[in-house]
Amino acid sequence: MHSNITENELEQRLQAVANDHRLHFMLALQRLDASLAAQLQRLPPDEWADSPALVAWPQLQPQINNLRSVDAALCQWQLGLYGLCSDCEAQLMPAQLLADPCRQRCERCEAKYQKAQHGSWTL
Ligand SMILES: [Zn+2]
Repeated sequence: MHSNITENELEQRLQAVANDHRLHFMLALQRLDASLAAQLQRLPPDEWADSPALVAWPQLQPQINNLRSVDAALCQWQLGLYGLCSDCEAQLMPAQLLADPCRQRCERCEAKYQKAQHGSWTL
């Protein structure tokens, strides 16, 4: 690797972002539905996003998406696949991962993905 960002630093950063997203999700849920929040707190955090009860709170979708992205990144870390583009398996740059530890795609695949997500109105 040509950078001085260590694996340890990346792991700490990923963990910090995961904790942050989980905390924000939980605080938002507590304001909406304290009993569901208490219920989810008894589960492992990587199961929160899968709770069927969350369909009652569509306004939490951004926080739920964040949970899913940190869950996916932590799972990849455990599998030793962290930092690989999920579409083309290119190695992402440590600096990109440090800036956005949940990043799933390299720049090229991300651009393609965004285009597909937003329909074909941009040519
Ligand atoms: Zn890619």
